[in-house]
Amino acid sequence: MLLPSTQAKTLKERDQQAIWHPFTPLPDADQVISLTKAEGVYLYTSDGRKILDAISSWWVNLHGHSHPHIAEAVYKQATTLEHVIFAGFTHEPAVQLAERLLDTLPSNQDKIFYSDNGSTAVEVALKMAFQYWYNQGISKKKVIALNGSYHGDTFGAMSVGDRSPFTAPFNPYLFEVAFVDFPACQKQDCCGGNSGETSVCPSVNEVIHSFTALAESGEVAAFIYEPLIQGASGMRMYAPEILDTMLSVARKHNILCIADEVMTGFGRTGRLFASEYCRELPDIMCLSKGLTGGTMALGVTSCTAEVMQPYHSDDLMKTFFHGHSFTANPLACAAANASLDLLLTEDCQANMRRIAAKHEKFMEQITAHPAVEAMRCKGVILAIEVKTGTETSYFNEVRNSLYTYFMERNLLLRPLGNVVYILPPYVITNDELDTIYAAIYELLEKVR
Ligand SMILES: *Cc1c(COP(=O)(O)O)cnc(C)c1O
Repeated sequence: MLLPSTQAKTLKERDQQAIWHPFTPLPDADQVISLTKAEGVYLYTSDGRKILDAISSWWVNLHGHSHPHIAEAVYKQATTLEHVIFAGFTHEPAVQLAERLLDTLPSNQDKIFYSDNGSTAVEVALKMAFQYWYNQGISKKKVIALNGSYHGDTFGAMSVGDRSPFTAPFNPYLFEVAFVDFPACQKQDCCGGNSGETSVCPSVNEVIHSFTALAESGEVAAFIYEPLIQGASGMRMYAPEILDTMLSVARKHNILCIADEVMTGFGRTGRLFASEYCRELPDIMCLSKGLTGGTMALGVTSCTAEVMQPYHSDDLMKTFFHGHSFTANPLACAAANASLDLLLTEDCQANMRRIAAKHEKFMEQITAHPAVEAMRCKGVILAIEVKTGTETSYFNEVRNSLYTYFMERNLLLRPLGNVVYILPPYVITNDELDTIYAAIYELLEKVR
């Protein structure tokens, strides 16, 4: 029974008493906003505000919130088979999703392994790769990752991610990884930032050189990378030609290549998967965020037939001993199937092209603006580095004031340091995009 005093409390007050939020300093916990519903690109607050979700709720939402087609699929599934242990059992939603993913993923992907989220998809990928060598009795202890990378918040995923203030308390517990520099030119006046011509940029050549030196050691088990765009480190982009060069070096030296497409997957870069821009295909791929259209938690790790080869054995000890209670949850798989229905329509594909074209046009408009430090666009992702005059990081005032500035205008943009980026659901209209551009332009005018 609820006591009268409990009933009188607001949702926010009850939240503060009971909940610990992600990525939120405790003194800021009172800034949490109570929502009553979400529909399309809008979040509706309990005090009557309507906030435009310009970042797809941390990059997960594809088709707008509370989409009826996905809701219907989840409801139907919930009344049929809500969940079952996935060791020794199977069901239509999981098989159908696996078949459809294998139809859309790069052609060399052959099997689907399910888990719960992006971090677990990465954990599975790493364990799959390490045991691939272990099962063959081959000792390879090194892993290569890129500086600035983010692969999730669990320990394996943190280990292959950049060492940053976020990981500082855990650094002693993370396994060793060989990091190479981010393979794009950092100088404006050299080759235009992320030129595909590796040969023209000395700093990119240097990265390729150290990558090759590591690869030649023969001790590298796997190379893990976010293809074309590093999301969390500020939507930093690098050219497919450069990645291709690294992948072919890795291939030559028998290094398993793991494409973490948790953010880039499902159309964000203008193609279904960022790996499609490369000639060299990954051995293992990680998917999550957009997988269910942003409706339910689900992770996928796909791999080639070659990766599975050393697991085909009568020796019980060569089994891949990994699984989660909610592996291949039927509701999540149903949501993912429904999201794929929408994603593969010509309507949705046209929306992605429309958004990309609008972004390009806005970039042209502000290209010479004195408050623009740098900007970049790939597919539906547009990132603008705002010139702030001070050293910027995720933690400083600039980032917070940018966030507040947009929230005051009912726009959910969550800048990464001084990088303001748009990563919208594909159903966003031109007018809604113009509203966001106008707010960004106004901001640039203010800080000039
Ligand atoms: C978000 C993200 C992850 C982690 O996914 P979670 O579902 O948050 O655990 C991993 N890799 C990349 C590239 C991501 O953007």
